[in-house]
Amino acid sequence: MKKISIVVPCYNEEESLPIFYEQVEKIVHKIKADIEYIFVNDGSKDKTLEVLKKLSKEDKRVRFLSFSRNFGKESAILAGLEASTGDYVTTMDADLQDPPELLIEMFETLEEGEYDICAAKSRSRNGYSFLRKKFTKWFYKIIAHISKTEMVDGARDFRLMRRVVVDAVISMQEYNRYSKGLFSFVGFKTKWIEFENQERVAGTTKWSFWKLFAYAIEGIVAFSTAPLIFAALLGVVLCFVSLIMIVFIIVRTLLFGDPVSGWPSLVCIIFFLSGVQLFATGIIGEYLAKTYLETKKRPIYIVKETEKGRL
Ligand code: UDP
Ligand code: MG
Repeated sequence: MKKISIVVPCYNEEESLPIFYEQVEKIVHKIKADIEYIFVNDGSKDKTLEVLKKLSKEDKRVRFLSFSRNFGKESAILAGLEASTGDYVTTMDADLQDPPELLIEMFETLEEGEYDICAAKSRSRNGYSFLRKKFTKWFYKIIAHISKTEMVDGARDFRLMRRVVVDAVISMQEYNRYSKGLFSFVGFKTKWIEFENQERVAGTTKWSFWKLFAYAIEGIVAFSTAPLIFAALLGVVLCFVSLIMIVFIIVRTLLFGDPVSGWPSLVCIIFFLSGVQLFATGIIGEYLAKTYLETKKRPIYIVKETEKGRL
C-alpha cells in the first residue's frame, strides 16, 4: 500500500487544528493508502504545541516538529518535507482553506501514473481584501514577464507530489525560500485542479499587507534578475538623453552666445539623477543582501521538540 504524508505548517492555529484533523480524517478514510501527518509548529505563541502533543498521543500516525522560534511558512514546509517518509507528499494549510476532499482526486491522478504532481488552484480570492486582490493580480502579471520560472496565478501550496518531486524540492537548500517558485522550478508534469477559494475556519490570517508586499519583492528577487537589467537600461537611456542635451547646449551657445541662466532646471536635474542613482543602487543592494544571507549558510530552521520528546 502507498503512503501519503500530509505536511501542515502551523503558526498560532490552536483553534483550527482540531477542526482540520477531524475534516481531513473524514476524507482520508476513503483513500486506500497509509497516512502520516507531519505538523510543523512554527514557533506559535498560543497552545498549538499542546494541541499537537495531544493529537500525537491519541493517534500514532500524527508526528510533529516544533521550531525554536517563528521561521516562516516556507521554512516550516521544508522541515515537513524533509521529515516526510511517504511515497506521496502533500502540503496543506491548517485553516482548511485547502479543501481536503481534493485529496481523493489528487491521489487518483497520481495513481494513474501520467502526472507527477497534482496541484490546487483557486478560481477566486473570496475572503481577501480588495487591495490584496489587486496587488496579487499585479504581482503575477509582473513576474510572468520578468521570470523564466512560471508562477501560476491562484496556485496554492496545496499539492500532492511524488517522492522524486519532493526530493528535488528538498535539494534546493537556499535560505531565501519562495516556495511557489521552488515548486515550479523543479518542473515535472503537473495537473491543475480548480476550486472556489474558501474562507479560514478559525483564527486570523498571518499575513499583513506589508508582510505580503515584502514577500512579493522576495519572490521577484529570488526568481528574476530583470530589475538589475532595468537599472542598467535606465542608465543607458539617461546617458542618451544627456548626450542630446550636450549637443543642444553646444549648438545653442555657438549660435546665440551664452546668457547665464538655468539654475532651477539644474537643481531639478541634480535631484532627478540622484534619485535615479539611489534607486538603482537600492536594486543592486537588494540582490547583494540576498547573496550575503545565502553565503552565511545559516540553518533554514531549528527544531526544538518532536513527538518523541525534546531534542
Ligand atoms: N504559517 C506558518 N508560519 C508563519 C505564517 C503562517 O507556518 O509564519 C502557516 C499558517 O499556520 C497556515 C499557513 O501557513 O497553516 C497559511 O497561513 P495563513 O492562512 O495565515 O495565510 P493566508 O491563507 O492568509 O494566505
Ligand atoms: Mg489561510
